Amino acid sequence: MKQIPELFGSMVFNDEAMREHLPKDTYKALRRTISGGTHLDREVANVVASAMKDWAVARGASHFTHWFQPMTGTTAEKHDSFISPNGDGKIIMEFSGKALVCGEPDASSFPSGGLRCTFEARGYTVWDTTSYAFIKDGTLCIPTAFCGYNGEALDKKTPLLRSMQALETQALRVLRLFGNTTATRVVSEVGPEQEYFLIDKETFLKRPDLINTGRTLFGARPPKGQDLDDHYFGTLKPRVSAFMKDLDEELWKLGVCAKTKHNEVAPAQHELAPIYTTTSIATDHNQLTMELMKVVADRHGLACLLHEKPFAGVNGSGKHNNWSVSTDTGINLLNPGKTPHENAQFLLFLVAVIKAVDDYQDLLRVSAASAGNDHRLGANEAPPAIISMFLGDELTAILDALESGKAYCPQQQQSMEIGVTVLPHFPQDTTDRNRTSPFAFTGNKFEFRMLGSTFSVAGPNFVLNTMVAEVLRQFADSLEGSEDFTKALAKLVKKTIKAHKRIIFNGNNYADEWVTEAHARGLSNLRTTVEALPTLVSPASVELFTKHHVLTESELHARYEILLENYAKTLHIEALTMVDMVKGEIVPACISYQNELACLVRRKMDCGGVDKGLEEYFLKKIANSSSLMLKKLNALEDTLLQAGQERGALEQARFSRDKLFAAMTELRLVVDELETLVANKYWAFPTYAQILNSVV
Ligand code: ADP
Ligand code: MG
Repeated sequence: MKQIPELFGSMVFNDEAMREHLPKDTYKALRRTISGGTHLDREVANVVASAMKDWAVARGASHFTHWFQPMTGTTAEKHDSFISPNGDGKIIMEFSGKALVCGEPDASSFPSGGLRCTFEARGYTVWDTTSYAFIKDGTLCIPTAFCGYNGEALDKKTPLLRSMQALETQALRVLRLFGNTTATRVVSEVGPEQEYFLIDKETFLKRPDLINTGRTLFGARPPKGQDLDDHYFGTLKPRVSAFMKDLDEELWKLGVCAKTKHNEVAPAQHELAPIYTTTSIATDHNQLTMELMKVVADRHGLACLLHEKPFAGVNGSGKHNNWSVSTDTGINLLNPGKTPHENAQFLLFLVAVIKAVDDYQDLLRVSAASAGNDHRLGANEAPPAIISMFLGDELTAILDALESGKAYCPQQQQSMEIGVTVLPHFPQDTTDRNRTSPFAFTGNKFEFRMLGSTFSVAGPNFVLNTMVAEVLRQFADSLEGSEDFTKALAKLVKKTIKAHKRIIFNGNNYADEWVTEAHARGLSNLRTTVEALPTLVSPASVELFTKHHVLTESELHARYEILLENYAKTLHIEALTMVDMVKGEIVPACISYQNELACLVRRKMDCGGVDKGLEEYFLKKIANSSSLMLKKLNALEDTLLQAGQERGALEQARFSRDKLFAAMTELRLVVDELETLVANKYWAFPTYAQILNSVV
């Protein structure tokens, strides 16, 4: 096997490969395009394409694809081979600049939220030069943005790239005010921690609910869950370890810096964290990570579950989005500095994020909303649906002192002053103690913890980037004309802390009292996806995203429609799967077991005088529960029929949440009871205990 440094990035057409395989002029022209300078000239594109093809073919590739991220949340690819007939019955391997730069997949089968009628099938994929091409499974993958005929964004990547641009523009304005003339680029960077479950594949294949919906729709609580806390950071089982090793290698080949791996809180749950990188690349890498987790698991006879809540009553999976902003000169703008000047700059960026999170809390909430994540947020394992920020006691005390102009440190009796005071150094571990906060400052970055495990990080990050860009714009506008910059800055910071400190909460976000207090503070509590989604098309949202050219009003509406539809469809599929499972397996299991018990009762009666108490007891219980199950099944089927009636997307989503989900929950309750009564040999589906312990 290759050594790791040699293996790393070996399947990526990265900077090193470009230098090696492109003529010097072409390389320079391409670099200019990558750093946002110029459009790619057709001639240059031809040379790049040809070199890329030779590079890929030498590494076993036969096809190429424009790899993109439609609104389904996953990735899409249509493969074309490099072959081209040369006229004498033979072929040559060919790849043109045109094919590299722009593709034209049939877009009609991807969700567009009414942006494009299905007969207007034309869609374009356009090379995103900021993300390197790579070879996956014998195919050269070109990362692309996906848009409609008139350039409307139909994917997750486009608004993300636009938001990075918006953030850069505004952050540079602020940096110039601090006299920074050297930074020419500002990028947002992300390190997403990915949680997942690993179970045995044979077990997985016996659960239609896991196959169809990614989560178990039935299942009684196991006798041993996570009560003993013996799984978290526990020793890796050999099969899991072998999987992780293989996954690391696959990811390294693709240039993904997989770094940390460990067992998570729930049985069969694990986590992988890469080293953070530029947000658009981190997005691509996270999509690849999720995809490869499934592929590699399969290779090991395992199934990887990425759903937010595969098992009721067992911790679900999230994705922690570690986010920071830095310059091309290597300054992390969220890192407190060593001098008063650096600290003044840090404080301004810090209060900008605080104001942004407070002003746009609802949008941040929407960015973490999905049918799957509704099972986590607000439960005692994930942040609540209320957005608040954790800064830690020390930083909060500093902000308090700045606001009041009073002493921060009692020993020194010094008052805090912007541009004068040196901040104390706070090591990361003192600020990272609160695990219940949805949005925590962790020393030099913020950790947004509400994302669900299946999420593309593109969504939450385009929201985050844009809202911070907007506040920086306001700050730059107000400071640019000021006569005394330091004075104006101090005033602005103070004013911002005063106006937005309600969003800071360092306590336990899981406590019931927090819900009451948050309400008193005027913070919103959008409990479900359906409650949260309309925010996306609110006047404030439209103004924000159009002002920064991240999404147009019609693109926003399209996204809103897609998300509503997605929510309703998810619940619909779950309900149908439940009906199938009950009719196909659970009813027969109940009947068979009742039959066995009834036969025994009869035989004992024939024997006369033999005690049949046990059989009768269970027979009666199962008969009663079965009748109840039939009632609940009928109710769910009736609700499904009603769900088929024509109504608007929002109404449909509301119906799914209020009626369909309620009917599903009631059916589940009685089926889970039956699972504990019916003999194992009749129950067709592996139990929670069997699934969670399926990897030995
Ligand atoms: P923990 O589980 O303690 O939160 P992990 O090591 O699992 O920490 O994950 C932390 C993640 O944060 C990693 O992906 C890491 O690369 C990322 N990270 C570290 N520093 C930054 C930063 N400045 N900006 C963005 N992400 C960062
Ligand atoms: Mg972690």
